[in-house]
Amino acid sequence: VLVYYNGDYVPKSEATTSVYDHGFLYGDGVFEGIRAYNGRVFKLKEHVDRLFDSAKAIAMEIPISREEMSQAILETLRKNDLSDAYIRPIVSRGVGDLGLDPRKCKTPNIFIITQEWGAMYGDLYEVGLKAVMVATRRNAPDALSPNIKSLNYLNNILAKIEANAKGGDEAIFLDSNGYICEGSGDNIFIIKNGKVYTPPTISNLKGITRATAIELLMERGYEVLEENVGLFDLFTADEVFVTGTAAEAAPITKVDGRLIGDGKPGPITGEMVKAFEEITTTTGTP
Ligand code: PLP
Repeated sequence: VLVYYNGDYVPKSEATTSVYDHGFLYGDGVFEGIRAYNGRVFKLKEHVDRLFDSAKAIAMEIPISREEMSQAILETLRKNDLSDAYIRPIVSRGVGDLGLDPRKCKTPNIFIITQEWGAMYGDLYEVGLKAVMVATRRNAPDALSPNIKSLNYLNNILAKIEANAKGGDEAIFLDSNGYICEGSGDNIFIIKNGKVYTPPTISNLKGITRATAIELLMERGYEVLEENVGLFDLFTADEVFVTGTAAEAAPITKVDGRLIGDGKPGPITGEMVKAFEEITTTTGTP
């Protein structure tokens, strides 16, 4: 396995940074999660743009251009001879001292890691995922914005720990107002009487799969409403599904032991999953 490391492609054992890297010390950095299908990178521009936006939001200048980043992502994939893969660009603040001050960190470190990848939830796409509401809240927009894909994913990890402990496949966050927010690594959609609802992205990550799902649903004539969704809406939904680069589009059929609809993945979710499969395998940057 070769890892991109500040312009070089090195064996993974050599892709290491210092213990003084603020990415390690403080989670000071940003990342992306990208997929390649059939050797083509899905939504490359969108992911690179979000990486640069995340960096800008934490006042970190990525020392290469968007074009160089895009080429490095494609080259990492080629060097590893992968066609169905997950790609993880990471930009950490770089090496500083033990203080917080990022001005001590002279240059960010850039890594791109890739590995072979298939659909994350295996046969759960057929039966649906069991979700668990968690006590951990997603970051509030007035603190560390959930729009920043930062290396600080502790809330998401705590949510995952809660879901694991309760035997769930995925966690569902509420925001600080008690509205449904998103999963630990995916956005959420709720369907009622043929209409599709998804929470506005002020409280959650501006998911690239979410945007794709909205487009696909609208193309198929469904009304998609970006509005606050409460627990009542979740428990009484006809269908629920989540979207994410790693999860793709995955049905949720149980929340906290309650059945969603009749407890089987619903027809609009099914249509979405199929449409998503088609778009990922027929588009993308070679
Ligand atoms: N929400 C969170 C917290 C995530 O980490 C992710 C994964 O990237 C998503 C949502 C889904 O976003 P995307 O579809 O861009 O992968």
